[in-house]
Amino acid sequence: MTQPRKVHVKSFGCQMNVYDSHRMADTLLPAGFAETASPADADLVILNTCNIREKAADKVYSEIGRMRELKHAAAADGRKMMIAVAGCVAQAEGQEILRRAGAVDLVVGSQNYHRLPDMIARAENGERVIDTEFPVEDKFEALAPPAREQIAKRGVSAFVTVQEGCDKFCTFCVVPYTRGAEISRPVEHIAAEVARLAAAGVREVTLIGQNVNGYHGNDAEGRTATLGLLLRRLARVPGILRLRYTTSHPRDMNDELIAAHAELPELMPYVHLPVQSGSDRILAAMNRKHTRTDYLELIARMRAARPDLAFTSDFIVGFPGETEDDLQDTLALLREVGFAGAFSFAYSPRPGTPAADMDSQVPPEVATDRLHRLQAEILRLQGNFNAQFQGRTLEVLLEKPGRLPGQLVGKTPYLQTVQLMAPPAIIGSLVKVAITDIGSNTLFGVLAESTTMSALETAGA
Ligand code: SAM
Ligand code: SF4
Repeated sequence: MTQPRKVHVKSFGCQMNVYDSHRMADTLLPAGFAETASPADADLVILNTCNIREKAADKVYSEIGRMRELKHAAAADGRKMMIAVAGCVAQAEGQEILRRAGAVDLVVGSQNYHRLPDMIARAENGERVIDTEFPVEDKFEALAPPAREQIAKRGVSAFVTVQEGCDKFCTFCVVPYTRGAEISRPVEHIAAEVARLAAAGVREVTLIGQNVNGYHGNDAEGRTATLGLLLRRLARVPGILRLRYTTSHPRDMNDELIAAHAELPELMPYVHLPVQSGSDRILAAMNRKHTRTDYLELIARMRAARPDLAFTSDFIVGFPGETEDDLQDTLALLREVGFAGAFSFAYSPRPGTPAADMDSQVPPEVATDRLHRLQAEILRLQGNFNAQFQGRTLEVLLEKPGRLPGQLVGKTPYLQTVQLMAPPAIIGSLVKVAITDIGSNTLFGVLAESTTMSALETAGA
């Protein structure tokens, strides 16, 4: 029997890239490639890149440089190693990568991963291959489904892409150009994938998409289904205990989805809902298509449906034309909502986007100062959010062993990480945990008496 060749896939950026990396590895399995965690051992290294900010895109070339060294070392050992660049940088500047980086054997755009086996065969014959066309065929159906043994290795919580691309064209963002127009996968294709994951031990599924709540896939009868309907369908898949979704756009948050939060116990009370800024002037310049008031009203409607909903968000500071008053509006909005956490970024001009050519770009040192002040406020609010759970009992999905012997790590419904002492046999169970201590990013707890026995008995421990 021939030894399988080895592929190492390294993901940068968002969860959609992590999902795509898994699908690439699954698709290369029947082509004779087993996954390896070590790039030095690999016959093929795939860098799955991110282009969202300049820093992310710059990383690609330094990473190619590191892989080139490994490629030379492999050649010195008489072994051939190939380097592939995938993802959004590949999509945006594929030709440039081939021109600048002689060590790269192939470039595959974000919609063409199903064509990898064929591209690799061509690259093995010495061709430098590039494919960044937006294809007509359905990438998701052409990619191999997750393999059972791979799923088990990846843990009890999995991502599933249900929607890809974006038609919103926020003026700062490259996504509509690198991921293309919005498409949604059919309900029953997603349900089949989720059932496959559940049968292999997955207990929590996070549905992902650049605009996940804009989901509009066909149901079994050919009607258009919303994300709320999709979630109702997936809640019926045996073995699935928890459902989440990310990332949502405020404009696409519809009544069906809000009702799902009120009615589905499997749907976790946590929503990542990027607002980007608290200033109407900046929101308009960003082409966000929502105002500060729209956003606050939406939060109120959602909290009326599910009072304990936790909200997190994304913020950009230093967008062209942003003043100190605009930043104060953002800080005020942050406090008004009482976010459980947030990601925040200094604006990074992206070539080809409208904001990159706007007048009154904010000097980097001003943007950095604003970012520090915003982040201090986010940390304060995150601390307040977590502090309310001191002494309370929360349901925790146990995900994996912790760093200390005998320790497990799990997640609360609000996506907080919890560390506790418990036997590894109960990984994958939902248990009640009494919170005894609150760290800056982690909660600490002990198994609550009432659930200890039932969870241990179910696991046969
Ligand atoms: N679709 C989501 C939305 O509408 O908010 C998020 C997409 S993007 C992958 C994730 C975040 O990156 C955005 O919410 C935004 O805060 C940030 N981002 C996007 N483009 C950026 C840029 N040019 N500079 C700085 N941050 C940016
Ligand atoms: Fe980018 Fe805006 Fe689309 Fe989000 S909604 S992916 S920020 S263009």
